[in-house]
Amino acid sequence: MSEGVDQYGVFGYPVSHSLSPFVHAMFARDTGEKMSYRAYEVTPADFTQRVRTFFTGGGRGLNITLPHKLAAVGVATELSERATHAAAVNTLTQEGHAILGDNTDGAGLVRDLCDNLGLALSGQRILILGAGGATRGILGPLLGLAPAELVIANRTPDRAEALAATFATYGPTEGLGFQQVPDAPFDLIINATSASLSGDIPPIPRGVVSSQTVCYDLAYGRSAMAFVKWAQAFGCARALQGLGMLVEQAAESFEIWRGVRPATAHVLAALKERTGSI
Ligand code: NAP
Repeated sequence: MSEGVDQYGVFGYPVSHSLSPFVHAMFARDTGEKMSYRAYEVTPADFTQRVRTFFTGGGRGLNITLPHKLAAVGVATELSERATHAAAVNTLTQEGHAILGDNTDGAGLVRDLCDNLGLALSGQRILILGAGGATRGILGPLLGLAPAELVIANRTPDRAEALAATFATYGPTEGLGFQQVPDAPFDLIINATSASLSGDIPPIPRGVVSSQTVCYDLAYGRSAMAFVKWAQAFGCARALQGLGMLVEQAAESFEIWRGVRPATAHVLAALKERTGSI
């Protein structure tokens, strides 16, 4: 690693597609923070050793992306409450001899939904499609907004049921299969499956979408438009992709590392231009 500026980065496999170096370079420039941030391709077999080498070599912080978010829980020597709930880590920070593990994904989504998009979710009905790592990370922060009901629907119903049971003490949650989703409108539908990357739409009743429904796909980019097009075809109020979540979770990590909150609106606009996301 080069001397002089504080070193940060993202570990993933693959990682060449990552937008995080672009985002953090803009944050650093805007805030005047002296730091570097780069993407590291790290295989699962090498993950733990590479994290240790990064930090013993003077590195200050890492973002962790697929497929390492669960393994990062075991590398951290201390976990934040939200990382503990999510059982997944996307941010590691060196603090003396400790490596702190945190999860900023849920906070990033909530900031995008509430601050950027102006949604008020208290008392609303939320449907989440998918019960993987991303859903695990966003459930706690979403339930913290006091929705009337949060339904998790998944291709493998057992996983949705297990997640709903895990988070039951945080608010009214229900886990079920796609076929059991009630044919009635939701206020917000979040697609947290990786289905739109392959152009698939989960088989849920069309009545879940009304002219008041906001539909939000955590995936983003021109190649992940299937869910957005499906939602628009059924007359939703708004259909969006997860680029805002990506920028906001990065801002949350940046603030943990540098103690400064970067502005995000122009970074999001630049990324939309770059990726063709909506
Ligand atoms: P994951 O842990 O691999 O979970 C994938 C989920 O998608 C599972 O619930 C799986 O169902 C479901 N699924 C996969 N293919 C499907 C299909 N053809 N039809 C229906 N369901 C299908 O992945 P993840 O980490 O949760 O990520 C999910 C999505 O969120 C990805 O697109 C990822 O890029 C995105 N994401 C975005 C951000 C952001 O900042 N915007 C952050 C994190 C994640 P089974 O349980 O039945 O296998």
